[in-house]
Amino acid sequence: MTQMVVATHGLTKSYGKVRALDDVSLEIPHGEIYGLVGQNGAGKTTLIRLLTGLARPSSGSLELFGSSGAAANRQRPRIGALIEAPVLSMDLTARQNLEALRIQRGLAGRQWVDEALEQVGLEGAGSKKARQFSLGMRQRLGLAVALLGRPELLILDEPVNGLDPTGMARIREELVRRAQQEGTTILLSSHLLAELDLFATRYGFIHQGRLVRQLTARELHDQCRRSLRIGVDDAARAATVLEEELRVTGYRITDGHQLLLDSHLDEAATINSALVRAGVQVHQLEVRGASLEDYFSDLVKGA
Ligand code: ATP
Repeated sequence: MTQMVVATHGLTKSYGKVRALDDVSLEIPHGEIYGLVGQNGAGKTTLIRLLTGLARPSSGSLELFGSSGAAANRQRPRIGALIEAPVLSMDLTARQNLEALRIQRGLAGRQWVDEALEQVGLEGAGSKKARQFSLGMRQRLGLAVALLGRPELLILDEPVNGLDPTGMARIREELVRRAQQEGTTILLSSHLLAELDLFATRYGFIHQGRLVRQLTARELHDQCRRSLRIGVDDAARAATVLEEELRVTGYRITDGHQLLLDSHLDEAATINSALVRAGVQVHQLEVRGASLEDYFSDLVKGA
């Protein structure tokens, strides 16, 4: 059976009257790259704060590496995290920041620091003070802090925030390498769906504190697959024509004026003629896949 590295059960966090997180039950299997997707204020950071022990749940529970309660707290050294602004000593150099952490975490040998600096592309900037770093460089150093010592679980809140495209690609490659070669489990939040789509293997969509859907990347792509969109004046009537005249059965009616067909993608002309002959007005006929953004906005509308 696949080991769940993270599991939450009805996790809820309220701040006064605000339910920042509402009854969230999610599971992250070993070795997965789990993308947490949600709009501003959806509850992503709150969930991450609960998982990393920076905040306590109002109700519900969580398991880390199969342990719950006090035993789950003891698993936290196995986690590397980047949450909001990275915690750095501004008067220390990048290397000194990492050295202090290395010693604190009991990691023997300076190679750990070299490795972390190199993996985020800061190998040439180790002797520069954190204060002199640009925003993107501070973000990279924050990532180096999370990566230091190869933790088994990485929890990263908006990790590519402020990074240039080269920096994003470098971090992405490193995270994929860790997941695939070292079996690291990774939870990361991002607003950049297109960026997540390049490497996430599983998704959790969160809206107004609730987990509205959890699915694998394959399932997500299936749901966004190409289909023939038929815009008409009367979708129910068009469906009857499709069934009776063309023996089409695999369609979805999205609203009173639109059908989606997963088959017959090359037969737009035949479909158009049959509908027009039957007196159905056709105002749209195109083959299109839903983008991740389309999928997410439909999900949020439905929620
Ligand atoms: P963003 O993408 O903008 O970072 P998010 O998904 O991370 O958003 P959270 O920071 O988890 O969202 O916030 C969820 C909700 O909880 C918001 O309504 C926020 O105002 C509220 N909230 C978060 N932290 C606190 C706090 N310490 N006190 C009061 N309300 C809070």
